[in-house]
Parts: sequence; C-alpha cells; structure tokens
Amino acid sequence: MPVLEIITIGTELLLGEIVDTNSTYIARTLRDHGIDIYRITTIGDNPNRIAATIREALRRADIIITTGGLGPTVDDPTRQAVADAVDVALVFVDQLWDQILERFKAYGRPPTQNNRRQAYIPSGAIPIANPVGTAPCFIVEQGASSIISLPGVPQEMKYILHQEVIPFLKDKYQLQSQIIKATVLHLASVGESVIDEAIADLENYANPTVGLLAHPGQVDVRVTAKAQSEVEAQEMIQPILAELYQRLGDHIYGRNGDTLAGVIAALLEKHDLQVTILTFGLNDFYEKHIHQAYTDRIKVIPLTALPPEPQALVEEVNRRVGQQDGELGFGLVLQKTPQVEVYIVYQDANQTITKTRRFGGPRENAPLWAANIGLDELRRKLTQFISNHQTGES
Ligand code: ATP
Ligand code: MG
Repeated sequence: MPVLEIITIGTELLLGEIVDTNSTYIARTLRDHGIDIYRITTIGDNPNRIAATIREALRRADIIITTGGLGPTVDDPTRQAVADAVDVALVFVDQLWDQILERFKAYGRPPTQNNRRQAYIPSGAIPIANPVGTAPCFIVEQGASSIISLPGVPQEMKYILHQEVIPFLKDKYQLQSQIIKATVLHLASVGESVIDEAIADLENYANPTVGLLAHPGQVDVRVTAKAQSEVEAQEMIQPILAELYQRLGDHIYGRNGDTLAGVIAALLEKHDLQVTILTFGLNDFYEKHIHQAYTDRIKVIPLTALPPEPQALVEEVNRRVGQQDGELGFGLVLQKTPQVEVYIVYQDANQTITKTRRFGGPRENAPLWAANIGLDELRRKLTQFISNHQTGES
C-alpha cells in the first residue's frame, strides 16, 4: 500500500486561530482507498521550512499532499517551497493564467498583478485547474513519488481531491478500495496487564490489529481488519477471535453492543431464573447498568444503610430474597472508608458465597468499577449454577 504524509501549511494553524480540518478529511478519505497515513505535519508560511519538510517526507512517503499557501500574495509560500524541495525553478504556465482570467471574468472583476503569481508552478509539474477558486494546484512527480499541492480552503481542497487527485492516485498506485471492520470483545474482572501478557504476541500483528482499551473493571479487546470486502475482513478477524476465546474465554462476557446486564438477562430468561440485587453506594446503578437490559428478571433494591461487613450483607440477602428454586440473591456494596472496596454476596439454593475486592484506582471510578466486577461475578456464578443444574438434571 502506498504511504502518505500530509503537510498543512499556514501560520494561522500554528497559532491555533483555525483548526486543521483538512488533514483529517484527507486522511479519512484516502484511508478508505487503501492508502497508509504515516505522518501529518503543520508548518507556518515559511518556504524554507516547508521545503525541508517536503524533502524529508520524500524519503519516507510515496505520496505527499500539502494544503494551503497557494494564494496570490508574497507570503503564500507553497509554490516556491515545492520547487525548492525538488530543485527546479518556477515556470509561468499560460494555460493556468488563462484559467485565472476566466475565473475573474466570471466574478466580474479584473485580476490584480499579484494573481499572475498563481500561474507559476514548479517546472515539470502537472497543472490542475481549480474551477471552484482562483488558486491553481499542481502535482510534481518524482519517480514513484508524488507531491500534490492543494488549496487551503476546505471546499476547494475537497472538490479537487475527489475530482482530480483520487483518479490520479488510483491510476498511478493501482489503489483498491479498502474497508475497515472491527469486532470488540468485552472482558471484566481481569486486569489490563494480565490480558496484555496473555495476548502480547497478537498485539504485534499489522492486519488485523489487536488493541486493548481499559475501563474501570472492564477491558475491551478490539480486532480491526482492513480488506477489500466485508466478507474478507470477517474471514481475517475470525481466527483471531477464536484464538482470543481460546486464551481468555472465561473472562470474555460479550462483544460489540453486549452489556453485562444484557448478557445476564439473556441467561436468566433462557433458564427461567430471577435475581434480586441489593446495592449500596452505587448511586444510579439501576439506571446505568440494568435499565437498558429491559428485563423484569433482575430486581434491584437499593439499601438505605451500609451493612458494616460482608456477613451483615449475607443476612440482608437471606432475609430479603426468597429461597425457592430459580430465585437468586445478590448483594453489591461499595464501601469507601477506610479503603475503597466492594462486598459481593451470591446466593442460590445450594450455596452462599462472599467476596471482598479492593480498588486502587481514582475514587470517582469506583462505582463503575464495582458495578462491572460485581455484575461479572454474578455472570460467572450464574453460568456455573446453570451448568451444575443441567448436569444434575441429566
Ligand atoms: P487562497 O487562495 O484562498 O489564499 P490558499 O491555498 O492560499 O488559498 P490559505 O490561504 O492557506 O489557502 O488558507 C485559506 C483559508 O482556508 C484559511 O484562511 C482557512 O480558513 C482555510 N484553511 C487553510 N488551511 C486549512 C486547514 N488545514 N484546515 C482547515 N481550514 C484551512
Ligand atoms: Mg492564502
């Protein structure tokens, strides 16, 4: 795949007066055409620095796109900088000057002497007409590499990118459109470093890529493939997912849009079970985690006082949750002093289990952490209960 570097030119960009939207637009558009973007650089209106950057980029990249600095004033530096970078002179192109005159005729005003500057391009460059503005653009070919200079005004840049640049690149670099497809696996109750250790070798792959994103009490593993079609991308992702399930199976609770509460609700539904969850210190636990699972099989009862220790929570769960078959009890209490820790109680017809887990992260993340590891504990116990039950029945 050809490699692209983008250079955006303009002192206002460096001063933070305008936001560089051109490079994100170009990056996104060309990525979908199978071009790899390695670097985006912003330079002020200084021809020497721009020329030096272009020269450097030529050593790394096949395609260099610049935007901005093509206007008619002396301090519009791009023409000169590109010419310097490839050691050629600027030459006046009659055809470009005619196009500029045409544009001004359409505007109903005469061009200034300054506008003649815009008819100069580096010797040997391919001129590109700009029917949506006055600044002509150009492409300089250096063997297999191309330097493409586009206007700074976003609408002009976009128009010329689509009308002229993409067809040119498709032809020169035999581009094939690429699609990007990702599957995200969600894991809970296991640390980022543990996962990282288990799958470090996969994280070095180039395509598909495997990346980690940590949240409080949850880690996402994202597998992203670039391919010519959706089917091909799926086929590339599949074996990586299989490998991830092989290595991390128990910790993976779902993928993409799955939530812990949703996964638990589906298990309860399938096996005709109910769970009552007593909570304390988890604020809007119901709204944030349970509500969107749209189930009546999970009932949440917020406690009004903090059970002083795990055993007191066991008694609460015992007292408040029925013992009949198919009814499960769960307690989840976030304790903030002296340490941030969570008491977890799980109760079914056969057993009551208690757990205490301590939290070392920022305090404001504690409720989300507690909800994630608590619900994941429930999911694990529920899975165990169901599998024991099924073995018992058969
Ligand atoms: P002109 O002939 O209009 O002067 P130009 O190629 O010289 O075109 P610039 O003068 O560098 O372009 O920029 C013109 C305007 O385009 C800027 O004032 C700014 O509003 C916008 N612009 C320039 N560069 C960017 C960028 N990277 N991202 C978003 N907008 C930009
Ligand atoms: Mg300008």
